[in-house]
Amino acid sequence: MAVSRTLAILGATGSVGTSTLDLVALHPERFDVTALTAATQVDALADAAIRTGAKLAVIDDETLLPRLRERLAGSNCRAATGRAALSEAATSADLVMAAIVGCAGLEPVMAALAAGRTVALANKESLVTAGAIMTDAATRCGATILPVDSEHNAIFQCLVGNRSQDVAKLVLTASGGPFRQKSLAEMRAMTPEQAVAHPNWSMGAKISVDSATMMNKGLELIEAHHLFALPPERIDILIHPQSVIHSMVEYVDGSVLAQLGSPDMRIPIAHALAWPERMATPAARLDLASIATLTFEQPDSERFPALRLARSALEEGGAAPTVLNAANEIAVAAFLARRIGFGDIAALVERALGAVGAPPPRSVADVLDIDREARDTVRQLMISLAA
Ligand code: NAD
Ligand code: MG
Repeated sequence: MAVSRTLAILGATGSVGTSTLDLVALHPERFDVTALTAATQVDALADAAIRTGAKLAVIDDETLLPRLRERLAGSNCRAATGRAALSEAATSADLVMAAIVGCAGLEPVMAALAAGRTVALANKESLVTAGAIMTDAATRCGATILPVDSEHNAIFQCLVGNRSQDVAKLVLTASGGPFRQKSLAEMRAMTPEQAVAHPNWSMGAKISVDSATMMNKGLELIEAHHLFALPPERIDILIHPQSVIHSMVEYVDGSVLAQLGSPDMRIPIAHALAWPERMATPAARLDLASIATLTFEQPDSERFPALRLARSALEEGGAAPTVLNAANEIAVAAFLARRIGFGDIAALVERALGAVGAPPPRSVADVLDIDREARDTVRQLMISLAA
């Protein structure tokens, strides 16, 4: 029987967070939950804290702290808010599920790495924005980053037992999102509801819009570069609408290893939670005979300019990936709030990349400064767009 390990879940009320909680409930003997965090969903947070026996629950919205306290009264769980409490949550366990969305997850991830923890990383934006600052901290502090993003988790699995110098290239697969077959003109008219209706995966709103623009695959290209230390020209993107092959590694001898499975995030989440063991999940078994056909296409960076923007930000390096990520976060939020159109998202990111001329970040504080500047720049650009 597996030995129980301590687990903290950052972003416990989101799509990845609740899938993580479902897996913990299926394998209670494996995990001792120490802390849970959320932005605003105070009741879901309190319920999960009581259910799991967590000792600390952190709510980002401080106006909700009294409500959290009230809900946790009589339990052994302490209610808290603020950056210090988030870092305390992030360092409270051996294994930390990083499932906050966006750059908001950066500081707690860095705290967990500085404490030498094992971080199951779903929060790709933190790695995209901080890049080598994060991977260097992990190396220096003896911390481990386990990829939860399905593509990177697939590659991680395909690398086992091989030498890194024998890797020829990585192939990141992409479903192509809900607008794979739409023209540029059609895409301009798309609403938030249409953009979040992903054909294969059920996910949070931000990553669903990122899948529709394909910025998600652009962020994943940058994520793969940092996780697996390969130059951008050795990371390909391949459209695979069925989302059965989650990514591939090609070796120097021409062998290609792939990881397959149903498109269900519980599989990569379970892989990271149980690593280096495996644990059962309720995910549907892959039935290739009924799927029958797997298809592949080249990505189209004319209809999906975010792919081109992310690749050039990675090639440029310095502050560019931080600007790309921050500008995208603001533009996606504005699209979801119906303040800008779908086509404006990539256009704003492109303009922000041209407008912010910051030096390369050397610390998390530098990253957060660039992040703020890029957000302000996009807000200004949106004002001029509306005028
Ligand atoms: P989500 O929006 O469903 O959940 C986000 C979680 O983060 C929630 O618990 C929310 O309360 C919390 N949160 C949001 N803003 C916060 C802030 N400012 N401070 C503190 N907490 C905050 O998102 P999700 O779909 O679960 O995605 C989480 C992360 O995992 C993202 O980085 C996403 O790219 C990545 N990811 C998700 C999936 C998926 O299937 N959902 C797949 C791969 C990667
Ligand atoms: Mg992914």
